[in-house]
Amino acid sequence: MNMIAKKFPNAALIDGEWVTSNKTFPVYDPATGEEIASVPDLGAKDALRAIDAANSALPTWSTKTAKERAAILKRWFDLVTAETESLAQLMTTEQGKPLAESRAEVAYGASFIEWFAEEGKRAYGRTIPTTVASKRYITIKQPIGVVAAITPWNFPIAMITRKVAPALAAGCTIVVKPAAETPLCALAVAKLGKDAGLPPGVLNIVTTKDAPAVGKVFCEDPRVRKLSFTGSTEVGKILYRQCADTVKKLTLELGGNAPLVVFDDADLEQAVAGAMASKYRNAGQTCVCANRILVQSGIYDGFAAALVKAVNKLTVGPGLEPGTAIGPLISSEAIAKVEALVSDAVKKGAKVLTGGTLDNAGPLFYRPSVVGDVTADMSIVQEEIFGPVAALVRFDTEADAVKLANDTPFGLAAYLFSQNLGRAWRVAEKLDVGMVGVNEGIFSNEVVPFGGVKESGLGREGGAEGLEEYLETKYICLGGIDA
Ligand code: NAP
Repeated sequence: MNMIAKKFPNAALIDGEWVTSNKTFPVYDPATGEEIASVPDLGAKDALRAIDAANSALPTWSTKTAKERAAILKRWFDLVTAETESLAQLMTTEQGKPLAESRAEVAYGASFIEWFAEEGKRAYGRTIPTTVASKRYITIKQPIGVVAAITPWNFPIAMITRKVAPALAAGCTIVVKPAAETPLCALAVAKLGKDAGLPPGVLNIVTTKDAPAVGKVFCEDPRVRKLSFTGSTEVGKILYRQCADTVKKLTLELGGNAPLVVFDDADLEQAVAGAMASKYRNAGQTCVCANRILVQSGIYDGFAAALVKAVNKLTVGPGLEPGTAIGPLISSEAIAKVEALVSDAVKKGAKVLTGGTLDNAGPLFYRPSVVGDVTADMSIVQEEIFGPVAALVRFDTEADAVKLANDTPFGLAAYLFSQNLGRAWRVAEKLDVGMVGVNEGIFSNEVVPFGGVKESGLGREGGAEGLEEYLETKYICLGGIDA
C-alpha cells in the first residue's frame, strides 16, 4: 500500500466499526497509474446495515442540544485542520490535483464543519402574530431524519463535508457513498470525525463499485428522509425518479455549463486572471469551470492573446511535484472526452490557439489549451468539457451575450467581466444561474449559498440555506389561551 494511504483507514465505516470485505476494489494514483490501496466493495445489504445504524443513532443524536453537537463538530474541524498536510497529500495521490489546491480544499472542506457547528445553534423558528385571540402560532425547526449522500471525485473532501456537516449540525444522521475513484479521502475524514467523538451510526461511509445498487437502496428505503447528491445531471435524474415513491427531500448539485462573459469594457488583466482561475483549477474538472468564454468583438483578439500567454506559463505534471499547476485528468474516459470535443470543434472550424494535445507527462495529462473561433453549434460549448481547455466564442452586443449565456439546459454558475456597474448588475440579473461572479473567477466559500437552477439542480449548500436543507419546519398552534 502507498505510504500516505497507509496513514488512514481503507475499510468502510458502519455503526462506528471499520468494516472489511473479501471483495475489494483498487484505488489508483491518476498521475502514475499506481494502485495505492484497495477498499471494500460493499453492496445493497451493507447499505441497508448502514441505514439501520443511522436510524438507531438518530433518537440520541437528534435530541442532543445544538451546543453539544457543535462541540463535537468543532473538535472534528480542529482534527481535520491539524491533519491538513497528510490529507492534502492523500488527496493529490488519489485525485491528482496539485498539492497547493489539495491544501486549499482541505481548508475549504474543514470550513463547512466549523461554519455549520456554529450555524446549527441558530436553527430558529418563528412566532407568528395571531389571527384569533385564543390561539398562538409558533414554528420550530427539527432535523429531517436519516440522510443519504452520494458524492463525486472532483472535490473528494469538500463535497462530503458540505453535506455531512449541516446534516449533523441539524441533528440528522447520515450514510455517505463516496465516488469509487476517491474513497480514501472520505474514509480519512470520517476517521477524524470518529476520533472527535461522533457516536456510532451518526456518520457511516459505504464504499462500493456498484453505485446503482447502493443508490437504489438509499432512494427506496422509507427511513431515509433526504437524499443529497452531487454529480452529473444524468445520474441526478435517475436518483430524482427513484426517490419519487418515498417522496424524499432532495438536494441535487448537478452539472454546469458556465459562461464567462468578457465585455469590451472589462479590465483585460482582471478578466484574464478570472478566466485562468475559473477555467484551469483542478485541471478544468469543476462544476463551476468556465465552459464557454464569451468575448465581445472589440476585446476578443487582445483577450485571446493575453489568455494564451498566461496559459503557456502553466506547468503540467504530477500534483506532488512543486510548481505543478495542471495535474492529470481523473481517467482515460475523461481524456477521450476532451479529445473528442476538441476534435469536433476543429472539424467545425475552431482554431487551436495553444495546446490541443496530450502532454508527455503521461497518458492522463492534457496540455492546458485555448481554442478560438468556437461557435454555439459545437459540442465543446454544449457539454461539460471537464478538462483544461478554454473555448472562446465571439459576440457583438450585450443582448447577444445574455442570449448565448442562457441558451443551455444548465444554470449553475456564470461569470462576467465589465467595468460598467450598470451593465454588470443588469446582466447578472438576467443570467439564468444560481451564482454569478462579477469581475471574479472564484466565489465559493462556506458562508454563501452554492447551487444551481434549471438542470443544474435543486437546493443550496453552504450558508444559512445549507442548514435549512436538513431541517423541517413544524407549525404548532397553541389554543385555549383565553382565560
Ligand atoms: P457521476 O458519474 O454522476 O458520479 C457522482 C456519484 O454518483 C459517484 O459517487 C458515483 O459513483 C455515483 N453514481 C453513479 N451512477 C449512479 C447511480 N446509478 N446511482 C447512484 N449513484 C451513482 O459524476 P462524476 O463524474 O463523479 O462527477 C462529475 C459531475 O459532478 C460533473 O457533472 C460535475 O459538474 C458535477 N458536480 C457538480 C457539483 C455541484 O455542486 N453542482 C460539484 C461537483 C461536481 P461511482 O463513483 O461509483 O461511479
